[in-house]
Amino acid sequence: SARTPDRLRSPIVCILGHVDTGKTKILDKIRKTNVQDGEAGGITQQIGATFFPLDAVKRETSKLAAGRALSHDIPALLIIDTPGHESFTNLRSRGSSLCDIAILVVDIMHGLEPQTMESIQLLKQRKTPFIVALNKVDRLYDWKAKPMTPVIDALPAQKKHVQDEFKRRLEETKVAFAEVGFNSEVYWDNDDVRSHVSLVPTSAISGEGIPDLLYLLVSLTQKLMSDRLMWTSHLECTLLEVKVIEGLGTTIDVILTGGTLKEGDTIVVCGLDGAIVTTVRALLTPHPMKEMRVKGQYVRHASIEAAQGIKISADGLDRAVAGTQLLITEDGGSEEELDLLRVEVMKDFATILTAVDRSGVGVYVQASTLGSLEALLAFLESSEIPVAGLNIGPVHKKDIVKTSTMIERKKKEYATVLAFDVPVEKEARELAEELDVRIFTADIIYHLFDQFTAYMDDIRG
Ligand code: GDP
Ligand code: MG
Repeated sequence: SARTPDRLRSPIVCILGHVDTGKTKILDKIRKTNVQDGEAGGITQQIGATFFPLDAVKRETSKLAAGRALSHDIPALLIIDTPGHESFTNLRSRGSSLCDIAILVVDIMHGLEPQTMESIQLLKQRKTPFIVALNKVDRLYDWKAKPMTPVIDALPAQKKHVQDEFKRRLEETKVAFAEVGFNSEVYWDNDDVRSHVSLVPTSAISGEGIPDLLYLLVSLTQKLMSDRLMWTSHLECTLLEVKVIEGLGTTIDVILTGGTLKEGDTIVVCGLDGAIVTTVRALLTPHPMKEMRVKGQYVRHASIEAAQGIKISADGLDRAVAGTQLLITEDGGSEEELDLLRVEVMKDFATILTAVDRSGVGVYVQASTLGSLEALLAFLESSEIPVAGLNIGPVHKKDIVKTSTMIERKKKEYATVLAFDVPVEKEARELAEELDVRIFTADIIYHLFDQFTAYMDDIRG
């Protein structure tokens, strides 16, 4: 695979953190920097991602004090929109994370919360570098807003008692990070970004610290990972979501992190019933923000280079599995090559299937994607809850039928479906009622766990 040393691709940035810490708001704020300027900065909405060209980033970071000028080797930042564990666990290829750097959002008034801990665990497991947005600084009592100002300027402009409260909360945060095994330091005092996590105070409401955040993302990715970001012609493409779109049928949303995709390419995708081989009918992205009135929902591309978020329209994608990689034929698709690709594309899913004893007793788990299924299975294993069946996608009647076999085996507590981030079909619900199968649904793993353990305690008295 040809690597091009003097050409870097855009880093993939993910946002993680506890609910309500301001993940969505921070992203909105970053986006608005450009929309409000009314300039054609070229920030574009992509499938599952937002593409920030470096010009737009540079305009914001130019407000930072002199001496912090950005050298720019990367073309853009690709920030993944759907924030949360979901998108993060899906963003992987051959077992490693596709997320190059993460923003972990912490509410400065609340410190580290339960889902912050989950996020930290995930980042640790995947060895993903991250920076911390210490958000909602405007909630510090008596904070004077300095809209869209670098926080290194906004902070010294505050009254002494505000600065004191900030320092106290900063120290508490550092202690909390130390307790989970991370050295951390506010970014302007951080002399060693390899050993210390940088903390960036931000407000997603008034915008203090947003320029600082962008500056850090660019400078850190270039400093720490220029090797990883080297542009390669080898295709790296991850399937994020499977979606039915009116007029297009079943489509897949992918993040392309390496190589080039073209209309007419033969692709190989992991499917619930085996590998899917199909031809790219169309490569689609939303219209750039400035061209919203253009007719039709999507722009069609003859070919697209990494890194980008793309919707692919093709036949036969109904049973595609989200959270897996997409492969492409290189020599036009000889039968030998296709056979290799079929095996390769099914590998992760096959590994998961064999890890579960489907003849044993245990709960039935169902998740939206391979990544979330994996996360759920790992969690259940560490909690010593046995699993006897699994599936990906909405809960159907046949899932209930399989689950109900636990009743015949006199294991009523395991006649339970743990449904993670997936809908339950109406008929499945009715059948569950009839067969006395329990369904627990949640979009946070430990909520499922809490419901199930409470139910077990109840049954076992
Ligand atoms: P998410 O769940 O992490 O995506 O959080 P949201 O972005 O939805 O924000 C949750 C709530 O906190 C919303 O009511 C936001 O308006 C508010 N919020 C987010 N960031 C800030 C901030 O920096 N300052 C203040 N005061 N409120 C914020
Ligand atoms: Mg949100």
